[in-house]
Amino acid sequence: MQQIRLFVLYLTLLGPIEALAQEVGQPLPVWQAGELDIHHINTGQGNASFIIFPEGTTLLVDAGAINSMDWRTNKPRNIPTRPTNDRQAGEWIAHYVRNTLRFDTNPTIDYAIITHFHDDHMGTPLNVTKRSAGGYVLTGITEVGEFIPIRKILDRGWPDYKYPRPMTADTMVSNYRRFLDWQIQHKALRVERFQAGRSDQIVSVKPTGVREKYPFTFTNLAVNGQVWTGKGSNTWSAFPDLITLQPAVYPNENMCSIVFQLRYGSFDYFSGGDIQGVLQFGEPAWHDIETPISTVVKPVDVQLLDHHGYGDSQNGTLLASLRPRICIIPAWHATHPAPEVLERIFSGQTYRGDRDAFATNLLEEAKTAIHDFLPRLKSTSGHVVVRVDPGGATYRVFVLDDTNESFNIKAMYGPYASQ
Ligand SMILES: [Zn+2]
Repeated sequence: MQQIRLFVLYLTLLGPIEALAQEVGQPLPVWQAGELDIHHINTGQGNASFIIFPEGTTLLVDAGAINSMDWRTNKPRNIPTRPTNDRQAGEWIAHYVRNTLRFDTNPTIDYAIITHFHDDHMGTPLNVTKRSAGGYVLTGITEVGEFIPIRKILDRGWPDYKYPRPMTADTMVSNYRRFLDWQIQHKALRVERFQAGRSDQIVSVKPTGVREKYPFTFTNLAVNGQVWTGKGSNTWSAFPDLITLQPAVYPNENMCSIVFQLRYGSFDYFSGGDIQGVLQFGEPAWHDIETPISTVVKPVDVQLLDHHGYGDSQNGTLLASLRPRICIIPAWHATHPAPEVLERIFSGQTYRGDRDAFATNLLEEAKTAIHDFLPRLKSTSGHVVVRVDPGGATYRVFVLDDTNESFNIKAMYGPYASQ
């Protein structure tokens, strides 16, 4: 009897039935107002992070689709799509977003950011036959937009797509621009260039009364080599003036990535696209864009690793500034993450304290290469979800099954206290 009474009390304290399901083997409970959700969706095809801000505004950061073909060489990469090869990554991402927004009768992506113009972040049209009514190829972000309305897209090139050189010959960007034009005309899509130094480009879309209840800040740290100074909306250029450079040594696509930090209460999150910070092959010093960015970041609770944890990323200066408690590795290639990157992450010399690392899609080749560090990774495959509690003081990390669409919890960690 006493046990039954206690159980009833337990149910009463827990509230809605869905809250009960926060356990391994059960689907992740639906998002509740006040929570900040950051879903790192694993399709095996590149980056896709879906964020629900605590008042309900939604943001998709990237929608990769390499389609198992290397756009540089047109050769197969033989990386299977998760959960299956029956659909393309863009459609799986759309499914994931729809399921996450199942509380909403009219699911919408309020903002989408394309950090830079590579296939594993936006989708390649190479060897894809699916087309929309608008004539463009459906891949990555253009396919997501086929299934869910996107209200506004921010990227590094709008409206002329000319930095550092005109992108007219790029089939990925051309296809994407056909998608933008058609969506602007037929679906009232708005497009903006992401500008460093601003904190008013990603804001609440909810009405007054709702938005004040759970305030968050989203700071644009860098794009195209323009880096926020930390004061007002001022920026400086970490890249030399193009006039002084030969076109062959212009900034590369990765270095131009969109970089941002978001804050909810005392919780902080950093995402740097594919920026690099470790010089290779005699590169000039300005190719290290992580070091300039490290001067304006605050320590964070969670970092999405730069450039998938490839060997040219995550330098010691940035790590010492960010001091992430949680590192999320958006891995999809045999070189993700590099053993030396894990060495830096787990080194007690860069910063003190515990740290947990989660990988979304570690390939077998990568497991061999990072063998010694493997036991230290909390996950090697799955959707990695950071769920921040109302107010931002605590958060949890969930690893969800990516082999089917159950979204069942494989493992959960925390609660962690925001620093
Ligand atoms: Zn990438």
